[in-house]
Amino acid sequence: MLTQLDGFRSAQEIHAAMRARGDHVGLATVYRNLVLMAETGEVDVLTREDGEQVYFRCSRQHHHHLVCRSCGHAIEITGPAVERWADALAEQHGYTNISHTLEVFGLCPKCSLTVPPHTDGPP
Ligand SMILES: [Zn+2]
Ligand SMILES: [Zn+2]
Repeated sequence: MLTQLDGFRSAQEIHAAMRARGDHVGLATVYRNLVLMAETGEVDVLTREDGEQVYFRCSRQHHHHLVCRSCGHAIEITGPAVERWADALAEQHGYTNISHTLEVFGLCPKCSLTVPPHTDGPP
């Protein structure tokens, strides 16, 4: 059900999209499925800057995300420098079996054009 999505969406947003397609499924069911899929690694879950848990179907191999904080559009990124840094850090402190997650938030090219820059007070 997530294959049509191009970015991270909350359970509510995914539910709304499914209802719009004529899928009469309950929010609780959508939520339960998402949690299950996140547990099995079928979808990636991350916490958006507004604290909402959002879900996206990505590839299975290790990767990171570049996420639009306005529309949720996501791009999978790899960071060899980050991997080397994490490995070196672990080795330095004698840690094994390390893992990490990394998300980079920003505005996608489309939203960069449409979302006005944050300003303090009227111009
Ligand atoms: Zn965007
Ligand atoms: Zn990594």
